[in-house]
Amino acid sequence: MSDHPALHAATGSGAPVICLYVLDDAAGRAPGGAARWWLAQSLRALGADIAARGGSLVLRKGSAARVIPEVARESGASVVYWNAIAQAPHRAVEKQLEAALAKLGVDSRSFPGDLLVQPSAIRNNEGRGLRVFTPFWRRVLSLGDPPKPLPAPKELRPGPKLGSDRLETWKLEPTRPDWAGGLRETWTPGEASGRTRLRDFLKHTVRGYASDRDRPDRRGTSGLSPHLRFGELSPRQVFHAARFAADDNPAISSGVDKFLSELGWREFCRHLLHDHPGLATENLQTSFNDFPWRSDEKALAAWQRGSTGYPIVDAGLRELWHTGAMHNRVRMVVASFLVKHLLIDWRAGEAWFWDTLVDADAGSNPANWQWVAGCGADAAPFFRVFNPMLQGQKFDPDGAYVRRWVPELKDLPAKLVHQPWQATPIELTSAGITLGKTYPQPIVDYAAGRERALAAYAKIRKG
Ligand code: FAD
Repeated sequence: MSDHPALHAATGSGAPVICLYVLDDAAGRAPGGAARWWLAQSLRALGADIAARGGSLVLRKGSAARVIPEVARESGASVVYWNAIAQAPHRAVEKQLEAALAKLGVDSRSFPGDLLVQPSAIRNNEGRGLRVFTPFWRRVLSLGDPPKPLPAPKELRPGPKLGSDRLETWKLEPTRPDWAGGLRETWTPGEASGRTRLRDFLKHTVRGYASDRDRPDRRGTSGLSPHLRFGELSPRQVFHAARFAADDNPAISSGVDKFLSELGWREFCRHLLHDHPGLATENLQTSFNDFPWRSDEKALAAWQRGSTGYPIVDAGLRELWHTGAMHNRVRMVVASFLVKHLLIDWRAGEAWFWDTLVDADAGSNPANWQWVAGCGADAAPFFRVFNPMLQGQKFDPDGAYVRRWVPELKDLPAKLVHQPWQATPIELTSAGITLGKTYPQPIVDYAAGRERALAAYAKIRKG
C-alpha cells in the first residue's frame, strides 16, 4: 500500500475510499500458473492490510472497462483513481475506461505507477526508445533520483458496503493436483515480506552482490523480483532504500550500484515492451524471422522436466518447477541450451517460463529470452553459446547447487558433478549412478549441438 500514488491521492482527498481489484485476463497477457498462485496470496495479504486500516478490498472479475464503471455507479463514486501501466494493452483499456466514466459524469485520475522513469523521458533524436542498455541506464541516472516513495495511508475511510467475489471462486490456486507446495515453502507473498527481504538484503547481502550474484550455490541476490512484479514493492522504494543504505555505509556502495543497474535492466525491459508490444512473439531483429528452428516435442519435454543429462541445466529447470524461480545465471544457461543446443524456438522456452515463474514478467521474460537467443535489443551475439559444464565449474564449483536439485548425482566428486559421463564405471557405481537409468545420458552431444547451432545461424546471416 506504500508508494501507491493513486491510493495516496484518493485518501488525501478526504473522501471515503473503495479499494477495488479487477481480475481482467483480457487486459495484457493473462498470468501463468505460478503467477496466479502468487496473485492469490498477494490479494489475501493486501486485503488484510486494507482491513487493518479500516477499509475493505472489493474483488470483481471481468473487463475492467466495464466492471469499474459498474462499481462507480453502484457506489455513487465521483472520482476513480488508478496507477497507469505504460503498455499498449493497458493503455487501450484505460482509454475505454476514461470514456465510460466520463459518460457517467465520473472523473478519472491516473498516476504513473511502476517505473522509475516514464518511457517518454528516454528518447533518442528520432523520438525512439534506446535499444542499448548502457546508454539507457546512463540517461536514467542523469535525470537525477526518481521521486521519493509515498507513505502508505494510516487509515482508510470506508465507502458504502459493496458485494465482492470470493477469492476462491477465481480458482487462482491449484487444487487437484496441488503442485504449489514448493512455492509455499519458498515464498511469502505480500508487501510486508517484500520489505523484510529488501531490508535483510541491504543489511547482509548487498555488500558481496557484485560477485555473489552469479553464484547459484549462494544466497547472493535479493529475491525481490516477484514482489516487484506484483507491485508489492515499487522500484522507487527499492532505489531509495538502496541509495540510503549506501549513504549510511559507503563500504557497500559498489554492491549497491551493481544492484541498482540490475533494477535498471527491469526498467529497460519495460521500456522495450512499451516500444515493442509484440516483444513476446516477434523477433526484435527481423533477420531471425527465417531462423531454421527445429520442432522436437520430446526434447522440449526433457528440457522442461529437467532431464537433459546436463546437470546444471537439469538443476535449474527442477528448481524452477519446485520453487517458481531460477537463479539468473542458470536462467541464461538453460535458455542458451534450449535455443542453441536443442535449436528450439526461444518462444517455446519463454512460454514455459511464463507459466512456471512466480516473477514471470511481460517485459523482462521475453526481453531476456530474446537477449539470450541473439535476436533481441542489445543481445548477446548468437555465437555466444553457453557451455553448461564450464558454467557449472565456474559458478557452482563444489557442485552444491547441482547436488541440491539433482540428488541422484549427489555422491559424485566435484570434478565430475557437472559432467557425469566423464566418470569411470567404478566412479559411477560408487556414486550409485547408472547413466541412462538413474540419470539420463546427454540428450545431445555438446560439440555437435554447438556446431549445428552455428551452422543454422550462418544460414540466416547469408540471408
Ligand atoms: P537481483 O539480482 O536481486 O536483482 C534485483 C532486481 O533487478 C530483480 O528483482 C529484477 O527486478 C531486476 N533484474 C535483475 N536482473 C534482471 C534482468 N536480467 N532483466 C530484467 N530485470 C532484472 N526477471 C523477471 O523479473 N521476470 C522474468 O520473467 C524474467 N525472465 C527471465 C528469463 C530469462 C531467460 C533470463 C535470462 C532472465 C530473466 N529474468 C526475469 C531476469 C532475472 O533472472 C531475474 O530478474 C532475477 O533472477 C530475479 O532474482 P532477484 O530478484 O534475486 O534478482
